[in-house]
Amino acid sequence: MRLVLVGPPGAGKGTQAQFIAEQRAIPKISTGDIFRANVTQGTELGLAAKAYMDAGDLVPDQVTVEMVRARLAEPDAAKGFLLDGFPRNVPQAVMLDEILRDIGSDPIDVVLELVVDDDEVVLRLSGRRTCRTCNHVWHVDYDPPTIEDICDRDGGALYQRDDDREATIRHRLDVYAEQTAPLVGFYARRGALIGLDATGPVDDVTERALEALHRFRT
Ligand code: ADP
Ligand code: ADP
Repeated sequence: MRLVLVGPPGAGKGTQAQFIAEQRAIPKISTGDIFRANVTQGTELGLAAKAYMDAGDLVPDQVTVEMVRARLAEPDAAKGFLLDGFPRNVPQAVMLDEILRDIGSDPIDVVLELVVDDDEVVLRLSGRRTCRTCNHVWHVDYDPPTIEDICDRDGGALYQRDDDREATIRHRLDVYAEQTAPLVGFYARRGALIGLDATGPVDDVTERALEALHRFRT
């Protein structure tokens, strides 16, 4: 299955992507995670992306799309994949269609839109903590690790992302509304969109998502 998760920053895309990808046995491809790994390693790609990420702006399409093209060509993506954070505007969605055609893949099957309001997003993002080693995402109140700032999964140190500060969060929400939200109509017109209430406990959202995917298929 070829899946895309869309939703504002903090909607829970990364959190749900991990569970859905594990359940479906497909790779989770998160452009944000790939960019952050490149920033940490100081690669050319990381250097090209960093200023945009810090400002809460989108990294230019050219850079982003070539990175995704390379990732989708890897063998593990042949049986399906879950894209988290890509595409993020209509031009990227059009280029994604082209990449899939170029590599002989079927088109995207389903786009899952996680729906949460802005106030909840701010609460979620301001308490988000991410594992330095496995990228698992925690929340100081909603999903705390057993030991503060230590990942339960692999003992890695947790950190707060630089772009999860209130002013940058507000800007990212504006970027989402202007550039990313039009994807909802784009995929709805194709009959590929599922809108999902992403409020309530993480497990409830996962259950809703898996049920919706199951219903969509059958
Ligand atoms: P969030 O989890 O808050 O939605 P991500 O981790 O997906 O954020 O993305 C963090 C940052 O990485 C974005 O603000 C943007 O600068 C960059 N980024 C990630 N994916 C894309 C993309 N598809 N196109 C352009 N920039 C991207
Ligand atoms: P995104 O990838 O869309 O930016 P994340 O998955 O990183 O979002 O989640 C943002 C923050 O909200 C994280 O700290 C995560 O632990 C928390 N979170 C995710 N889903 C829920 C939920 N259903 N209820 C409360 N907090 C959540």
